[in-house]
Amino acid sequence: MKHDVIVVGGGPGGSTVAWRLATAGARPLVLDAAVFPRVKICAGWVTPAALADVEIDPEKYPHTIQPFTACRLAFEGACHQTRWARPASYGILRREFDHYLLERAAAAGADVRTGLRVTGVAVSPDAARVVTDRGELEAPVVIGAGGHRCPVAGALGRISAREEVVVAQESETRLAPERAVALAPFMDAPELYVEPDLRGYACPRICRSHPSRGTPTSCGARRRGAWRAHGSAWWAMPPGSRAI
Ligand SMILES: Cc1cc2nc3c(=O)[nH]c(=O)nc-3n(C[C@H](O)[C@H](O)[C@H](O)COP(=O)(O)OP(=O)(O)OC[C@H]3O[C@@H](n4cnc5c(N)ncnc54)[C@H](O)[C@@H]3O)c2cc1C
Repeated sequence: MKHDVIVVGGGPGGSTVAWRLATAGARPLVLDAAVFPRVKICAGWVTPAALADVEIDPEKYPHTIQPFTACRLAFEGACHQTRWARPASYGILRREFDHYLLERAAAAGADVRTGLRVTGVAVSPDAARVVTDRGELEAPVVIGAGGHRCPVAGALGRISAREEVVVAQESETRLAPERAVALAPFMDAPELYVEPDLRGYACPRICRSHPSRGTPTSCGARRRGAWRAHGSAWWAMPPGSRAI
């Protein structure tokens, strides 16, 4: 099959552009180094505008999706809660969300190849040549959607050597049913702990996962120097919880 476009990266950016192209009748090829469903560290908050942009109806989305109508923000010992009349954001799990979007692109006709790492990209006026760890591919157009350190951006000199490193960690813990009941009032309100130097945050959230997997909590912590906030996230983990 000859492809019109090679999309490097099958995250939400790559899968959405491939889905749109395939729906419009083009023949996109998506390459991703990971095998999906893959782990993507993320707080997992998606705004209604972002969902609308990728044309996902939260009522019809078949995986974990949790409306947030409140949020607690903690900073230097103070805690403030904001409430909204309607969901201001939704909580999703990226391994489900990204896989769903990529499968949607494949169902629309995109050629999706995972477990294939792009090691080089060369762009000439006529074609883009993409080198992978299993050979070379060519198409008139290449789209860079490889996230941080995208090889297409790298080939075009678009990655600054001064980019700051971000350290992130995510953990998921399954709750015992009685803990899930006790914590149910917090289900609609994730918490955000901001470091005093504003260089990091932690975000514990109680999440109703896919029915077959019960109710885990999930939390993420970010940025170099954010480890104190990370500590504050851990105390929010329920006693007796088990990392999964
Ligand atoms: C700690 C953290 C928390 C975040 N929390 C939120 C949040 O709550 N809400 C929100 O909206 N955003 C959040 N973000 C931002 C969000 O994760 C990104 O904006 C989003 O993932 C970008 O999507 P993307 O498709 O461009 O890239 P990505 O999702 O990063 O996907 C890029 C894909 O490219 C593939 N790839 C990379 N290099 C290669 C290669 N050489 N060859 C082949 N494939 C390659 C990767 O395997 C990956 O699947 C967070 C980010 C971080 C770091």
